[in-house]
Amino acid sequence: MYFKTLEKKDCSGCTACVSACPRHCITMKPDDEGFFYPEIDKSLCVECGLCEKVCPFDKPKYENTEVMDVYACYIKEQKQRQQSTSGGLFYAIAQWVIANGGIVYGAAFDKNFKLSHVGVDNMDDLDKLRGSKYLQSYLGNTFNEIKNHLKNGRWVYFVGCGCQVAGLNAFLRKKYEKLITSDLVCHGAPSQLMFDWHLDYLRRKEKGEIVSYTFRDLEGWGGCESYEYDSPARGMGKKRNPTYFTSPYLYSFMWAYNYRYSCYDCKFAQIPRQGDITLADFWGVTKFFPDLERENGVSLVLVNTQQGAVVWDAIKDILEYRKSNVKDAAAQNGNLVKKTQMPPIRTVCYQMIRERGYDDVAKNEFRMKGQWKLRIKTFLSSTKLWKIISRIK
Ligand SMILES: Cc1cc2nc3c(=O)[nH]c(=O)nc-3n(C[C@H](O)[C@H](O)[C@H](O)COP(=O)(O)OP(=O)(O)OC[C@H]3O[C@@H](n4cnc5c(N)ncnc54)[C@H](O)[C@@H]3O)c2cc1C
Ligand code: SF4
Ligand code: SF4
Ligand code: SF4
Repeated sequence: MYFKTLEKKDCSGCTACVSACPRHCITMKPDDEGFFYPEIDKSLCVECGLCEKVCPFDKPKYENTEVMDVYACYIKEQKQRQQSTSGGLFYAIAQWVIANGGIVYGAAFDKNFKLSHVGVDNMDDLDKLRGSKYLQSYLGNTFNEIKNHLKNGRWVYFVGCGCQVAGLNAFLRKKYEKLITSDLVCHGAPSQLMFDWHLDYLRRKEKGEIVSYTFRDLEGWGGCESYEYDSPARGMGKKRNPTYFTSPYLYSFMWAYNYRYSCYDCKFAQIPRQGDITLADFWGVTKFFPDLERENGVSLVLVNTQQGAVVWDAIKDILEYRKSNVKDAAAQNGNLVKKTQMPPIRTVCYQMIRERGYDDVAKNEFRMKGQWKLRIKTFLSSTKLWKIISRIK
């Protein structure tokens, strides 16, 4: 049976098999790196083969045969744009779905910083879904919940990494008129365990509790890790790492040290994409659209289906947008069209932390060594001075 031979690199953890099993005999269990994999209770299994049949990593489908339109864009409302990671396109679509009585599924932290997909149907709760969280989100029972909403005729908007959108489509096995999906351009995802280790490191460093955390803050597009702490000795405080290389977590993430093994063999980092509308950052936008203000984030949007086109038409008046193409969009965003290469450190990354502790690995491995030119350039590009120079250029 397929699961017996399943290698880690062949499973993205999308939960399509778990959600499809008629006997409810598959559960997702974490391995020693904190990534979830399906496990079958053989005493309940009737060997119907459905789990194998739906698996999108084993049998990926590329049904969106061509990209219909590509845009560089952002939401005109400045406040909403600043609260988003890129140009706020997720918010624009989600707002439209909620206004139509629908429900929006995306990734949210609970009070213990555990990341999972949740559904929200009002604008107040939408805030917790916003912003990129750079680790794998736990899907739980999301797919079955979505199916129930669709059967009841409700609009549903689902946002996730390509493998998660592929998983949902594989589980549903048919098109629903009121389902809209967005896949994120994604270079890979570390596990919840890796993020937990990082939070513990910050707690030790600040000698207190971490009360809020963002992977990319609001101070301009590309701004990096910021968090608030509450320390018995020092009270409340805020820290900001202006570049990715001063945060061990973001450094190891950016250099692909700690992704799920399937990410290095990703079947979805390519055109055709999996969602009705693909969302990403339009890196390098100034080269193609120098008139477009970039400082507060510009989204790259690919409209891949008729369904996506309907939504685009409904929201485009609240957006500033320019028409682009896949070639320009991919020029500085490689993962739109290709998967991430696995660096040699990956195979020992989690083990190394278990043996030496996160603090030691953070200090000695998850940081730049040498590379002074890159360091200076990255640091300068995070400062206000650089923003002024860029405008003059
Ligand atoms: C792990 C990861 C890697 C990424 N890598 C790239 C990249 O290489 N290049 C690139 O251009 N863009 C990448 N992105 C996408 C980018 O960071 C933005 O999320 C995207 O452009 C949408 O921005 P926005 O302003 O429209 O929405 P935002 O308001 O920022 O909303 C983001 C949406 O993504 C969902 N989301 C957040 N974290 C996760 C998660 N861990 N799993 C599933 N869904 C999540 C949220 O629920 C929300 O729906 C990545 C995102 C993630 C989560
Ligand atoms: S073969 Fe059928 S019953 Fe057995 S785990 Fe797979 S889906 Fe469930
Ligand atoms: S990729 Fe998805 S469907 Fe395939 S085995 Fe993994 S969790 Fe199951
Ligand atoms: S890189 Fe591929 S497999 Fe990994 S989280 Fe992203 S879409 Fe899923």
